[in-house]
Amino acid sequence: MKGKRLSRRRVLRAGATALGGGALALGSGTAGEAAPAQAPAIGTGTQTGRTFRGLVRHDATLDVQEMRLLAIDPRQVVIRSLAVAPCYTIVRGALGTNAIRRAEVPNHCGFGVVEAVGAMVKRVQVGDKVVVAGTSQCGQCYQCLHGRPDYCQFTFFSNAPGVEPFPPFAQFRDGTPVYAQAGIGGMSEIMTAFEEYCVPVFTDLPAAQLTLLGDQLASGFAAGHAEMVFQPGSDVVVFGAGPVGLGAVQAARVMGAGQVIVVDPIKYRRDFAMKMGATVTLDANAEGDGIVERIRELCRGPNDRRFAGGVSWGRAANAVISRGADFVVEAAGLQALPPKVETQPDPTNVKTVQQAWDCTRAGGHVMLMGFTLQPVSFPGASLALFGRTIHPGQQGGLHVMRDIPRYVKLIEKGKIDAQSLITKRYTLDQSRQAVQDTADRTIITGVIEFAS
Ligand SMILES: [Zn+2]
Ligand SMILES: [Zn+2]
Repeated sequence: MKGKRLSRRRVLRAGATALGGGALALGSGTAGEAAPAQAPAIGTGTQTGRTFRGLVRHDATLDVQEMRLLAIDPRQVVIRSLAVAPCYTIVRGALGTNAIRRAEVPNHCGFGVVEAVGAMVKRVQVGDKVVVAGTSQCGQCYQCLHGRPDYCQFTFFSNAPGVEPFPPFAQFRDGTPVYAQAGIGGMSEIMTAFEEYCVPVFTDLPAAQLTLLGDQLASGFAAGHAEMVFQPGSDVVVFGAGPVGLGAVQAARVMGAGQVIVVDPIKYRRDFAMKMGATVTLDANAEGDGIVERIRELCRGPNDRRFAGGVSWGRAANAVISRGADFVVEAAGLQALPPKVETQPDPTNVKTVQQAWDCTRAGGHVMLMGFTLQPVSFPGASLALFGRTIHPGQQGGLHVMRDIPRYVKLIEKGKIDAQSLITKRYTLDQSRQAVQDTADRTIITGVIEFAS
């Protein structure tokens, strides 16, 4: 484990370790599985040793470098990248100027075509188009078998402290090993991934749209119907109109929500949210601490009669909790670097999490998606008495093998608008700028398209 680099997986790994350290070794090949019936594709020798280019964080730099592919694990897949969208969670680590010796291709999702498979791979074939998702779905672990592949153990509980969970996938000409962030990377012409992360899709949709289903858009959309399910006609609040929050806004639109209240400090993002399905937007900076009461007022119902939600029974201090939103998604997250647009009212995001909790009505549901690295406290009695359900926001509860194929259908039907989320396109040589623009928040989503 290194430094204070910001990534969802690193944060959750740290949490998992703290919870008991029940770590599994990430083996190369699973004991007890049958021997492969056919020769592995890598046996042809056409993949190992091939050279390709990618964005690499190494020493104090983030540059496009040439590297050479190493042999893959029997359960890994070699993918020729077509498009990738850098995630905001990687920007601080990727753009850092501290010297790090471990060379790494940033990001944790991607999209491309399978060019070779290891001997034990069953899920995908050479020629398949695959979304490489930020979360695996192995189908065999305790979490997958209990209906929570959004916490698939292959992703979250597979490394012991101090142990490199994924082998390097490439090396520089001088032999320096190159790793892929979270075992996935994505910002290189060739990526390798364990098959558990690969979701084959069968569609002619553009790669630039499909790559959004590996992480941001899919996570945000899942927030409204995977584990937490927006009800038709309900009041939905979304904090954060970035690529994740706008996915949740689209889920609210598709699921038939009533009001869709979007909170963001950035004006162009609030304006854009209105095009995606928001019914009202609020400026997080202008509203300040009054935002909770403002949302309660917006959700108070048509009149003061009790069945309308306008007033509480009695005058107890806690009576206010009967007002608020039915569903709240906190997708703002912390501010990793100062943006070139409006700044967040609380860069740590602690306040936003508390506001999301507070503006949820008693009996309502709140999903916490954004990172907060500081402790967040709630009155203990509120946890016991307010009847609010907290949903963890890890990829929005996405079940990648179940949900990504149906999101493809929703894009094809025009129900999900992926195209509009792409603000800017880049070549691989411009990929560092894509990370910088993501950090600056001057774009919603930047997509790097690889020359084919
Ligand atoms: Zn991400
Ligand atoms: Zn699993």
